[in-house]
Amino acid sequence: MSLRKYTGKRDFKVTPEPPAKKESSAGQMEFVVQRHKASRLHYDFRLEMEGVLKSWAVPKGPSMNPKDKRLAMMVEDHPYSYRTFKGSIPDGNYGAGIVEIWDHGVYMPLNDDYEPATEKAILKDLKNGTIKFLLKGKKLKGFFALVKMKTAEGNAWLLIKHDDEFAVHKDYDSETFTPASSPINKVLKKKKASK
Ligand code: MN
Repeated sequence: MSLRKYTGKRDFKVTPEPPAKKESSAGQMEFVVQRHKASRLHYDFRLEMEGVLKSWAVPKGPSMNPKDKRLAMMVEDHPYSYRTFKGSIPDGNYGAGIVEIWDHGVYMPLNDDYEPATEKAILKDLKNGTIKFLLKGKKLKGFFALVKMKTAEGNAWLLIKHDDEFAVHKDYDSETFTPASSPINKVLKKKKASK
């Protein structure tokens, strides 16, 4: 795991994003979902692993409905401290726009049978292209899987909710779980009004 790519894309004299540093939680491992208004509005799903945040850009946002398979493009590892980052990335910088925190909490790595596993085991599963985990967030709860697609491109994964007591069986749109007062929504509303 390396933060070289993360650093290479950014100028920390200009962006308020945290510089690269490997760190881990003292207690349970953490996850975050950031809503990011860049050239396109998307969500970033990040799981702490081996001192960094393994990261996926999820264009449609996560779903609590097990029928949805949400495309999740694996992107560069982010530093652990990114889990609390929110704010504006100035124009001209990588990912320029607004980042807000949509959900966060702790997670537990699971094995293929959805039983508790170690960090070492989930790292191995990550390399093999399927990971399972238990999320304890405010919005995202219960069992999930991330499965790598066997495509030529290689960084396309699917984020899937497992059918459990927290699963939702009607249409799920992460946008409806975002407060109208969020920094991104305020900007979007202004843009709409000025059209
Ligand atoms: Mn992003």
